[in-house]
Amino acid sequence: MEFNIALLRGDGIGPEIVDSAVDVLKKTAEKFGHKFNFTPYLIGGAAIDETGKSLPDETVEGCLASDSVLLGSVGGPKWDSQPPSNRPEKALLGIRAALGLFTNLRPAKLYSALKEASPLRADIAEKGFDIMIVRELTGGIYFGERGRRNGENGEEAYDTECYSKMEIERIAKVAFETAMKRNKNVISIDKSNVLESSRLWRETVHEMAKDYPEVTLTDMLVDNAAMQIVKNPAQFDVIVTSNMFGDILSDEASQVTGSIGMLPSASLGATKRGMYEPIHGSAPDIAGQNIANPIATILSASMMLRYSFDLEKEADAIDNAVNKFLELGFRTADLAGNTGVKTLSTTEVTEKILELL
Ligand code: NAD
Repeated sequence: MEFNIALLRGDGIGPEIVDSAVDVLKKTAEKFGHKFNFTPYLIGGAAIDETGKSLPDETVEGCLASDSVLLGSVGGPKWDSQPPSNRPEKALLGIRAALGLFTNLRPAKLYSALKEASPLRADIAEKGFDIMIVRELTGGIYFGERGRRNGENGEEAYDTECYSKMEIERIAKVAFETAMKRNKNVISIDKSNVLESSRLWRETVHEMAKDYPEVTLTDMLVDNAAMQIVKNPAQFDVIVTSNMFGDILSDEASQVTGSIGMLPSASLGATKRGMYEPIHGSAPDIAGQNIANPIATILSASMMLRYSFDLEKEADAIDNAVNKFLELGFRTADLAGNTGVKTLSTTEVTEKILELL
């Protein structure tokens, strides 16, 4: 099969980690008889330097014309004085909106080889976990009506959580479809003991569940979920939740893996086209030193194969190569910490993973 991939390398370590993932994609294409065409576009600080705009029109058009988008990371101190409307990070919101991406998929997986990196108690980390958080990305309180007014006690401010049935249905569909590709278990997180929007959320998710009889659906209140992620993370397969709850819980879940350089993400919309990127930033402190961990970006590329191109075997091959890499004891500087283990450079990691593919 043939696919066109837009590359947004961005700033800081972005170019290094995207190039590493591209090498892995090229090798995967060769091994399985596919053709991936890569076209780079400017975004973030690099785009400001070249064109004056953090999100040039050409980038948006190129991404819209592609089958999927692979992004490194944007931002850095050099562009911190840009006006808010032209900050590198603003380009991310712009490209997500232009591509109509309403879902954020964030896996939080504790690799057995990296259990020591987790801040969780050893007996909990020992069981491992592999959670996929499906977060609604374009609705809820971050986008609802807000304002300031004079109330009974003087000045007050308000934000509104509002979800339409349509918005809940489309995110629930993503969660159930995702669960069908995994362990067929969805936990829907809400605050339906207090919020009306959560009651509509719960009702709608249950209606949608009828179309997926193989999937087990459970409800959980968000305060309990925040506890369960540290108490018994192994119970989760797919989590589906609203924008704000997902924002908070996905950060919590990623932190308990203990390794930010390992975590990929996907943003999806109504079409197969998605945008795939590591969850970490542009790490300006280590940019250009060939020591960044490219694994989060390599795993983002694997998610692209799985979720946008339906290339399951190919995605498994990349995930297995990463797993083997870790099992063999190879480490990047961020994973080794102060253990004294010899660490590999970005290019050495890439070479090892290519060998293991
Ligand atoms: P960061 O994620 O870039 O870095 C935090 C720490 O983690 C740093 O010490 C860094 O060296 C380390 N780190 C991150 N990724 C790593 C990797 N792959 N390998 C090894 N170490 C890694 O967060 P920050 O320092 O808060 O932000 C730096 C810049 O990135 C800022 O301009 C910020 O706005 C931007 N940012 C961009 C995105 C994005 O592009 N999606 C996300 C978050 C932050």
